[in-house]
Amino acid sequence: MQVRPAYDVDIRTDSARIRRALADAVPRSFWLDDPGRPAAEAPVAGDVDTDLLVIGGGYCGLWTALMAKEAEPGRDVVLIEGEEVGWAASGRNGGFVDASLTHGPENGRRHFADELAALTELGAENFAGLARALLDHDIDAEFEQGGFLAVATEPHQVAALRAQAGENAVLHEGDALASMVRSPLLRAGLFSRERHALAHPAKLAWGLKRACLRLGVRVFEHTAATGVRDDGGAVRVQTPAGRIRARSVALATNGFPSLLRRNRLMTLPVYDYVLMTEPLSAAQLSDIGWTGRFGISDAGRQFHYYRKSADNRILWGGYDAVYHRGGAVRPEYDQRPETFARLADHFLRTFPQLEDVRFTHAWGGMIDMSTRLNAFHGTAMGGRLAYSSGFTGLGVAATRFAAAVMIDLLAGADTSRTRLRMVRRKPLPIPPEPLRYPAVQLIRGAIARADRNGGRDGLVLRAANAFGFSFDS
Ligand SMILES: Cc1cc2nc3c(=O)[nH]c(=O)nc-3n(C[C@H](O)[C@H](O)[C@H](O)COP(=O)(O)OP(=O)(O)OC[C@H]3O[C@@H](n4cnc5c(N)ncnc54)[C@H](O)[C@@H]3O)c2cc1C
Repeated sequence: MQVRPAYDVDIRTDSARIRRALADAVPRSFWLDDPGRPAAEAPVAGDVDTDLLVIGGGYCGLWTALMAKEAEPGRDVVLIEGEEVGWAASGRNGGFVDASLTHGPENGRRHFADELAALTELGAENFAGLARALLDHDIDAEFEQGGFLAVATEPHQVAALRAQAGENAVLHEGDALASMVRSPLLRAGLFSRERHALAHPAKLAWGLKRACLRLGVRVFEHTAATGVRDDGGAVRVQTPAGRIRARSVALATNGFPSLLRRNRLMTLPVYDYVLMTEPLSAAQLSDIGWTGRFGISDAGRQFHYYRKSADNRILWGGYDAVYHRGGAVRPEYDQRPETFARLADHFLRTFPQLEDVRFTHAWGGMIDMSTRLNAFHGTAMGGRLAYSSGFTGLGVAATRFAAAVMIDLLAGADTSRTRLRMVRRKPLPIPPEPLRYPAVQLIRGAIARADRNGGRDGLVLRAANAFGFSFDS
């Protein structure tokens, strides 16, 4: 028998309280809507010659430029960004900094059981390296290591969390849970202190940009690469107002259409949506009992993530993971009123104590889903061009690891990173349209059914898993 879950798609969009809660929400990322947003650097004009060209000014490109320059200060490094540094996923995400390189341990076990121990260790090193780099480069990204609480809203999720409890993860139920967060929907919570942090996503991107500039990286914004071409000993990159000749190139363009034709079927642009509330008062925080500085995520296959900002707003995102037919990346997809209404509804069911709270911001962003749900890497043009993408919804920390992988690959170095099967092997490509949209809808429907069915995979998900094909945000 199917039991009605705590969250479902059966929402009351016309409910007056949802409309009231969303009435004043502005359609942009709270994180980017900040007076500290730095002015854009000038675009490329004319011809540029460089040792290393990084294409893409999100975390992945920024870490690549920064770490390459740190490793070899004499090397000339140029970074070009089509819009402004951090405007895309890197300035819109939830800011959960998770050490996992595999979109969580369960997905890691599914795809890389044999090297999960090494991946966990490398992930922990990368996480520690990220925390250290923020100090070394004086980046104030509101980085807080307050831990992470995975919560169960369904009985089967309680059992799953209980099974994961151990030395580094403590299960809380009843009063112990209520002392961390109070909600009529939450049945249990698994708290992990290590290897989880929160950050202000845009301040992280802007801080990395400042660090790059300080070390002498030449940054050009509003400069889209329109083509890359192998030119014997170098790579030629075309931009609207100038050409760049680079001895090597790192492609860090996430799920945007790849400049490499071979990678066009490797990522699926999936949109994830987020709401941000106004700052909560001390009384409101005490009503929900959430006084710690940890982030929360529920344990459903379709999950929400929620966290507090430095000024005690609640960011509430996730659940819907939307693929728009045709696979384009378009500004109009950044807004989806039906998803915002669903998110607001789920928020109010979770925290009915916050009935009077208003949302101030509502936005969406594109995630570069790969069928393994974690990054893939590789080279082209005789090893002169490296690429990394496919982080899916867990790239805040993993992009830094990917940057190190690209630097290794461009140097032709044999390292603990480049020896990973995760680096050497590619995930399955995603079928093109017109197959793609119905396939995604089929899998999304199967995921929603699994959530309603005690977390059990039905035929569609079992078949997808058997082929190594995962879908998530
Ligand atoms: C709503 C949302 C919530 C998320 N929450 C989390 C979270 O809590 N924790 C987590 O770990 N991850 C999260 N993620 C994922 C995370 O944000 C990404 O994995 C990460 O930001 C990827 O960084 P990136 O540099 O690869 O991509 P991006 O930030 O997308 O940067 C890529 C850049 O490349 C530029 N570009 C593309 N093509 C070209 C070209 N031809 N020429 C020049 N420039 C180009 C783009 O303009 C863009 O700025 C979330 C993502 C979204 C959208």
